[in-house]
Amino acid sequence: MKVFKFGGASVKDADGFRNFARILQRYANDSVMVILSALGKSTNALEEIQAAYIKRDNERLTMLFETLCQKHIELTEQLFDKKEQKKAVQADLEGFFQQMQQQFGQEPNANPAFLYDQIVSKGEQLSTVIAAHFLRAQGLKCQWIDVRNYIKTDNTYREGTVDWAETSKYIRQLQQETAAQTGIWITQGFLGGTPEGFTTTLGREGSDYSAAIFAHCLDAESLSIWKDVPGILNGDPRIVKDAQLIGELSYEEAIEMAFYGATVIHHKTVKPLQNKDIPLYVRSFINPDVEGTVIRSRVSAQQLPLIALKTNQILIDVYTKDFSFIDGAQLGKIVSLLSKYNITPHLSQNSAISYTTCVTHNHRIAELLDELSLYFDVRYQGPIEILTIRHFNDEVIAKQLGSRKVILQQKDDQTETLYMVIEGSSGIRK
Ligand code: ASP
Ligand code: MG
Repeated sequence: MKVFKFGGASVKDADGFRNFARILQRYANDSVMVILSALGKSTNALEEIQAAYIKRDNERLTMLFETLCQKHIELTEQLFDKKEQKKAVQADLEGFFQQMQQQFGQEPNANPAFLYDQIVSKGEQLSTVIAAHFLRAQGLKCQWIDVRNYIKTDNTYREGTVDWAETSKYIRQLQQETAAQTGIWITQGFLGGTPEGFTTTLGREGSDYSAAIFAHCLDAESLSIWKDVPGILNGDPRIVKDAQLIGELSYEEAIEMAFYGATVIHHKTVKPLQNKDIPLYVRSFINPDVEGTVIRSRVSAQQLPLIALKTNQILIDVYTKDFSFIDGAQLGKIVSLLSKYNITPHLSQNSAISYTTCVTHNHRIAELLDELSLYFDVRYQGPIEILTIRHFNDEVIAKQLGSRKVILQQKDDQTETLYMVIEGSSGIRK
């Protein structure tokens, strides 16, 4: 079986859906598991809906919700010619709209992260319903699957942790049921389900990760991520002029660059594939004949410098209060607090009496800083960014750095990687 992932940009409008179906027509005799995101930008719209609901801003909520419903209904008007087909898909959409309305009729008293997942998850449910109906209308054999019955997570809302044993069990059952059949199975990226039957999300842009989970559990022959770029470039073209396409990349380089800010694939995507030696193709949905980039274990040596920028970071400096050393016990305390708030250090360094780390700024940082302050003197600064250059040379460094000040720097000769913490360009609040 092949696993395909299509992002929101590929299905942002009717033409996008037609192109999506044309690509799948090429695989009509294969068996393909398709993981789809919400329509372009609708996850952002749903986040705004959730915020208005929590603030009890009913006027705004109604306006935003109506816009969302209209967008989906209009799309079906453009995609389906036959009356019965239109009626069937719109009835399915209506079911989801009603669930949302029912939610909005209740007081938003529950945990906001829980409410976020119950609401924001609707984007993928709606997009996949339209896609399944549309593929069938194009004569393709297609089955819609509710991912919440397959990807099982704990109840860490907004960042569900996958229960791999349960998830593998359910996905393998699906595989047995569908063995030897050809056709398309379509399901939602980004979502999971708790054992109690609630919906979770896996973190923004998490659909790549969903696809990797399916590929892993299905022992897929490959995962293809279809994007609006020709493949992986050696840097984000918004920050790297003359960025070039990379033909192949090792799992190690891919996971490092994704971790350090290369947004072309979600950073959690690589591990499940590496663990089963499943190749990952990053390909263009605009030019499906172009080969793109393959990520796998054996590749020829990388020549191009690889550049990534990790934004939205803060630098935290922790000092012992009484001039005692940062020893194992002190480090342990700091690390256990990072772990408690589910915060990953991206670059760390220590001296006799201080420990410094860079972390992503998120809604739990304030709590972390408060608790660290009970034991240490804590300072923080932001916005900062981490500029990572693999296979660096002086020319590339100078070009990327420009006039920006380097606050902290680390060099790894073995992997030819230079990490630079630099002043950022976006505003950050505590
Ligand atoms: N729709 C979700 C998001 O925009 C997940 C994804 O696209 O990967 O974050
Ligand atoms: Mg996306």
